[in-house]
Amino acid sequence: MIFENNRFFIVFTCKNVLVDLKPKTGESIGIDLGLKDAMNLSNGFKSGKIKSSKLDNRVKRLNKKLSHQIQGSNKWLRTKTKLNNVYYHKKEMIKDFIHKTTTYIVKNFDLIVVSNVNSKLGLGNHKLARTTADQHWFELKRQLEYKSDWYAKEFKLVNESYTSQVCNVCGFRNEDLELEDMSWICPNCGIVHDRDVNAAKNILTVGRTGVKNILYVFSNAHSKTNI
Ligand SMILES: [Zn+2]
Repeated sequence: MIFENNRFFIVFTCKNVLVDLKPKTGESIGIDLGLKDAMNLSNGFKSGKIKSSKLDNRVKRLNKKLSHQIQGSNKWLRTKTKLNNVYYHKKEMIKDFIHKTTTYIVKNFDLIVVSNVNSKLGLGNHKLARTTADQHWFELKRQLEYKSDWYAKEFKLVNESYTSQVCNVCGFRNEDLELEDMSWICPNCGIVHDRDVNAAKNILTVGRTGVKNILYVFSNAHSKTNI
């Protein structure tokens, strides 16, 4: 039994547990992990942001209150307990969001391809956002991996280099794409791209073909793409 944050937890260790396999769907999905939406899927679905702003505001208020109280006093201890509860609530809320989305994905797709965000470039000065996103991305990948293993689905981590820049239809590489460009029109084939969904489609292609990165898929098909 574990006691944490005024809560008791009972932990069971189980061996040889039989898991009911999820039925095969024959469907594959590419996933781009992001800041605006935690997950962008190659079928166009966007998971939305993991919302915690209300709780973040409460944390700010309680921290301010705490700073005006005498450390170790009864009032300080009461505020500290409240603050710990808010942190705990936030952690559980994020975990719940991630559990629901990863279960949905593993249930509905047989091949799950995720960008390896260790190579994510261009997040620049969003250091705080990056730190938070890193934690979410790590947990999303972790859950997708072990749930895929449980339900005999295939999970792949791939190199996401150039996946935002390359048109998933014709392979044109848009080197002028800026970080703030959330949509763009391919100058070669004219298709309108949602930046992150295009990236997710390329991630799926990299996973399916097993190439080093998306440029290799189109290297023979388009002269403007240089490896
Ligand atoms: Zn194109």
